[in-house]
Amino acid sequence: MTHLLLDLPPLSAERFASIEDRVARLLDTARDVVIMQGEALLPLEGAIRATAGPGTTALNVITGPYGQTFGDWLRDCGATVIDLAVPFHTAVTAGQIREALAEHPEIDFVSLVHAEAATGNTNPVAEIGEVVQAHGALFYLDAVASVGAEPVLPDAWGVDLCVIGAQKAMGGPAGVSAVSVSERAWARMAANPRAPRRSYLSLLDWKERWIDGGRKALLHAPAQLEMLALEACVERIEAAGPDTVMARHAAAAAATRAGALALGGGLAPYVHDAAEAAPVATTLRAPSGTVAAELVARALAADPALVLAAGGGALAKEMIRVNHYGPEANPGAVRASLAALGAALADAGLTVDVAAALDAAERAWHGALRERIGEVTGA
Ligand SMILES: *Cc1c(COP(=O)(O)O)cnc(C)c1O
Repeated sequence: MTHLLLDLPPLSAERFASIEDRVARLLDTARDVVIMQGEALLPLEGAIRATAGPGTTALNVITGPYGQTFGDWLRDCGATVIDLAVPFHTAVTAGQIREALAEHPEIDFVSLVHAEAATGNTNPVAEIGEVVQAHGALFYLDAVASVGAEPVLPDAWGVDLCVIGAQKAMGGPAGVSAVSVSERAWARMAANPRAPRRSYLSLLDWKERWIDGGRKALLHAPAQLEMLALEACVERIEAAGPDTVMARHAAAAAATRAGALALGGGLAPYVHDAAEAAPVATTLRAPSGTVAAELVARALAADPALVLAAGGGALAKEMIRVNHYGPEANPGAVRASLAALGAALADAGLTVDVAAALDAAERAWHGALRERIGEVTGA
């Protein structure tokens, strides 16, 4: 083992600021971007604790496990929480949000997860953003699983707090994360006596001591390796072109979906409508009579490098996740996943057609790329 990762010069404030600027460009945002020195749960929790309090009425949209967590934090802050839960096999619609806001005009905070890797759905944030903006509520978005896999545009969508992490579609480190913050969100924090201050969770500390000071002095020694890894992964996305990276994720999702349907044996996409399926990862419903976690364990025993996982918690029985993100958004990872699932289903006594699955996957991959490149070039 070389010491490539050791003996590095300290990361300067200037370099840190330039990495923030690069992340801001990726999000096409003119707002402040704060890179937080921890996994994405740090800004996700910090942003809620900073902006919510006993005077807050929050609409918390639940389309998977993260939405549940946000509701718990909001209640812990003393907020009144109105949960809007939709079945995990669908997305929430802008119409459902509009209805909830009309029913509870006092709502002044909306929390939403863009794409959920854990359930495989993606929500129409652009449309929802219009509704939330018209109502005037603060809009909080978890874009950890969507960034890099599909457009994430906080300014265009009116997102006040947009949290990202690099460990999914960006193919980067899990140890740092970022949040873009609108002026409105900063004002809400400043007015909140309960917002964390002089705390590792504090966004206000970064505002007052880093941003307002002209980004000259860091609050503490940054997580240097993770910051360099973040810079490297953004560089790699810029070099390939964000549209190309997103097209690969869309193609991987389309190929996995088509392949699973052609495989047969009762395997089915978990998210019913393809338009509501996330490009970052594809979830599948295990055939009745089988247990998803057992099929996945069998496949992984044969090849531990596969990007397969069982659903978390209660979903472990019925859900198979194909985590085709980051460097794994490639045809080989999709093919290997389909072939391994085919073998596991055949072992379980089901009739499958692996050749048909691979063929359908390949056609869907190319079809999705053609469609995307057409969109990009206007052809
Ligand atoms: C992956 C993910 C996170 C980050 O959580 P980890 O479990 O640490 O990977 C946050 N939000 C969403 C929606 C995610 O998919």
